[in-house]
Amino acid sequence: MQTASTIQNHLMQALSKADCHCHTLFSDGTLSPKALLDLAKEKQLTGLSITDHDTVDAYPIALPYAKQLGISLVPGIEISAHYQNASIHVLGYAFDLSNPVLSLFCERLQAQREERNHKILAKLAHINLPVTMTEIQERFPGGTIGRPHIAKIMVEKGYVKTMQKAFQRFLGEKQRCYVGGMTITVPEAIEVIHAVGGFAVLAHPHGLKPKVLEALCEMPFDGLEVYYGHLSLKQEQPILSIAVRKNWLITGGSDFHGEKKSFHGLGCSFTPPETFAHFVERTNSHQLAIENTSLNSHSV
Ligand code: AMP
Ligand code: ZN
Ligand code: FE
Ligand code: FE
Repeated sequence: MQTASTIQNHLMQALSKADCHCHTLFSDGTLSPKALLDLAKEKQLTGLSITDHDTVDAYPIALPYAKQLGISLVPGIEISAHYQNASIHVLGYAFDLSNPVLSLFCERLQAQREERNHKILAKLAHINLPVTMTEIQERFPGGTIGRPHIAKIMVEKGYVKTMQKAFQRFLGEKQRCYVGGMTITVPEAIEVIHAVGGFAVLAHPHGLKPKVLEALCEMPFDGLEVYYGHLSLKQEQPILSIAVRKNWLITGGSDFHGEKKSFHGLGCSFTPPETFAHFVERTNSHQLAIENTSLNSHSV
């Protein structure tokens, strides 16, 4: 027989839907934080984590607005790291947003990106496909700038038909305008997330080479992004097995970037309610610690 509390649990789970992977204008998404939250409300999501690439700049705007809408917003970030030659994305969740360690780390990432962007633009200029820093800054004011932004401008200037083509012909790995230069390793990304009290999760591991996945799973992650976009059960299953075997958190999200028609509609994948409850609990514990510290400092 089901008790009232198990029924309540089932009900909570049925009602809870949290997309823990999406992007705003502060990285390569097309929506502002407020527009993204409006869409989350429209889609009846109860929770969200905005995971912009290498920045948490959406949060000062997003947090009060999410509260107003009654959406539970958990701090998140997607850090660009690498393992050997592979580019690896590390998701961080439920960290203490006020901890300066993370903002300093993001500044370091932004500086690396700026240097790399200049090198990419120099290579493009060299083959007579000029894109200037001013054009980029005017088109994308603020936030993390990366290859997707450069690709978008290349499409807009008529150099290529699609962003995909820009990557395939020029910006992708091994192409002639490719520049590496992001030097953060996966253990460093995990370490910084832990240092600010967060959970480190390996993003979209499904396409990784088995040997790379195996090596990454020896690292001190707290979870795996099992549910992602519109992947099939068959694709999710091996990742789910690893997460269960390692007793790691199981997360999920759409990786929505704001496109109208795409693989990644907001809310198409979501994080299991048990995991999201951990995220909320951890986020609240940081808030409580801050409140206690400020109370104590007032009482002395
Ligand atoms: P960056 O962080 O500047 O190296 O850019 C990486 C981002 O570019 C990824 O998160 C993807 O969104 C996008 N990207 C990478 N490869 C491709 C590709 N072949 N086609 C389209 N977008 C890509
Ligand atoms: Zn992105
Ligand atoms: Fe990613
Ligand atoms: Fe992403």
